[in-house]
Amino acid sequence: MGSVGAKDVPVLIGEDGRRIDGRRADELRPMKITAGALHQADGSAFVEWGMNKVMAAVYGPREVHPRHLQENNKAIVQCRYNMAAFSVDERKRPGLDRRSQEISKVIAEALESVVFAEEYPRTSIDVYIEVLQANAGTRCAGVVAASVALADAGIPMVDLLPSVAVGKVAGHIVLDLKKEEDNFGEADMPMALVPQSGRLVLLQMEGRLSKAEFATALDMGVAGCKTIYGTMKQALRDRYNVTGSDPTEAGQ
Ligand code: ADP
Repeated sequence: MGSVGAKDVPVLIGEDGRRIDGRRADELRPMKITAGALHQADGSAFVEWGMNKVMAAVYGPREVHPRHLQENNKAIVQCRYNMAAFSVDERKRPGLDRRSQEISKVIAEALESVVFAEEYPRTSIDVYIEVLQANAGTRCAGVVAASVALADAGIPMVDLLPSVAVGKVAGHIVLDLKKEEDNFGEADMPMALVPQSGRLVLLQMEGRLSKAEFATALDMGVAGCKTIYGTMKQALRDRYNVTGSDPTEAGQ
């Protein structure tokens, strides 16, 4: 959240109700997902979402390093989220800072909750997320990329994991905040949804929302996740040249 004088705050919602990039309140930024973007990884995905560019690579299930983290009855999911030094306007100091560690942890926990970890005891599923270009919502882009990469690696999962941030900007609840909205807005709430069950496996909040605003934001985020889910499934169909109807859409 930025703490600057009012004169420095850009007009975030115009008189026509449109946002700084012309979107409506409930509109997502354009998204493109390429499943299997890397040859060396067991699974991978590249997500271009607005001005975000995020690559995810998955290795495993494989031997656990360090060894003492090994679990006898299930696989562990280890995640490293990293922002490239050139991913932001002012060069970011390279390496894992506290923010990257926190994001790595919440993403690993979200992914672990959808992977059938019991099928691979004493192994590690390693997920690397590299943010090449950042414009707010990179943890959500990371979750989307990582879950498509897990599917691409053939790792059994309950479901894919669409993710998006909702927030409050100039008094309006909006979907999928971009950088200026994140910096100068009143609230930012990233979430990740298991679409088939409706379970939220990631929910964070920076700023403040009233109870009613929270409910509106949640509904908007769930709807956004459902749209993103479609794009994720299509990316996997394109990768494996699958045509025809989608069995997971039956009865939805
Ligand atoms: P998210 O990317 O998930 O929204 P944050 O809310 O922490 O995570 O960050 C919002 C945005 O702020 C990032 O997407 C990025 O554009 C920018 N940002 C984050 N960390 C840095 C940094 N160290 N230097 C410059 N910009 C940053």
